[in-house]
Amino acid sequence: MSAAVLFAGQTPAGCLWPGPRSAPAINVHASMIRLRRCPQAALPSPDMFLVPTLAVAALALMQLRSDESAAKPLQQPRAPARDWRAKLGQFQVVALPGKGLGAVALCRFEPGDLVAEEAPLLQLTQSGSPAEQFQSLSAEARQRILNLSDFAAEKTVQGILDTNCFQKGLGSEDRVLCPTLARFNHSCVPNCQHVWDSDAAVMRILASTEVVAGEELSVDYIDVRQSREQRQALLSRKYGFKCTCASCQSADEESDRRRLSMARIDAEIGSASAEEALRLAQRLLRLYDDEGLHLQALRGRAALDACAACAKRGDAQETAAWASRAAESYSRGLGPGHELVRRALVYAASPESHRSWRR
Ligand SMILES: [Zn+2]
Repeated sequence: MSAAVLFAGQTPAGCLWPGPRSAPAINVHASMIRLRRCPQAALPSPDMFLVPTLAVAALALMQLRSDESAAKPLQQPRAPARDWRAKLGQFQVVALPGKGLGAVALCRFEPGDLVAEEAPLLQLTQSGSPAEQFQSLSAEARQRILNLSDFAAEKTVQGILDTNCFQKGLGSEDRVLCPTLARFNHSCVPNCQHVWDSDAAVMRILASTEVVAGEELSVDYIDVRQSREQRQALLSRKYGFKCTCASCQSADEESDRRRLSMARIDAEIGSASAEEALRLAQRLLRLYDDEGLHLQALRGRAALDACAACAKRGDAQETAAWASRAAESYSRGLGPGHELVRRALVYAASPESHRSWRR
């Protein structure tokens, strides 16, 4: 079985939707931001990018707090809000030389653009019976599933599901099968990431960096913050293929050190002092930059860790700045309507509402 016909897979808990270390209380709702202080800074629709508008509004709010007599109007964002869904579906599943099928961009994507969205044919829980669910589908749906690959030598429904399912969410063992999204191949330097929306009951793939037309679109099947040898072993065991992405082909020892440091630092931040946590978060973001990893949700989590560290110190300006940065990354990685985006925007507008404020 060639790697080319192996598609989407599960991602370990902690890789998808990485949120804050705890669930801080939110004292201020985002809608209050505009109602109380900045009626002219109206929120765009949920389908638009919220971050530029609200980040600017949050900074403007802070300026107003320091000068209550100020009557100057809030700054408007320089860039117009962009419809994150405008390029939905602009990809094509094609045969790729030496790789079998894969998804290729039909246009240029910017970070945060929605590339694909699909309601699953199957939602698999720990207690459910995949075989029964499969049999309950229409003949056409069953055939779509059977057209997918199985990395095992003998093709079975269970093998197809194991090869092609996405994990449903952070910490969840539930999985979903989306036959079209399953065509997106793995890369250890992916240019997209996938996210489950439980309200809409759809899996989405968003561009996590700039992608040009004709470029293959890729996601991560595993936590890529491992050494090349570890990644190769895990991908081989779980999906039966040898990754040939640029990172795996380079055999760069420095890359291995960076990726292992990312995982270690991410695990250490939660128990570090405020000063140390801020230093670690900054170092983690530099490592992502140096390694060329654009995993926006992971960047969002690092920024939110830095935000919490600054809140502990009672530094309103830095807390708000890091919160804005977290909101921007989370919006790009998870979509502008995601809960973590809204939470970060609240901190950006009202740093004192952070649960760790001066604690
Ligand atoms: Zn690779």
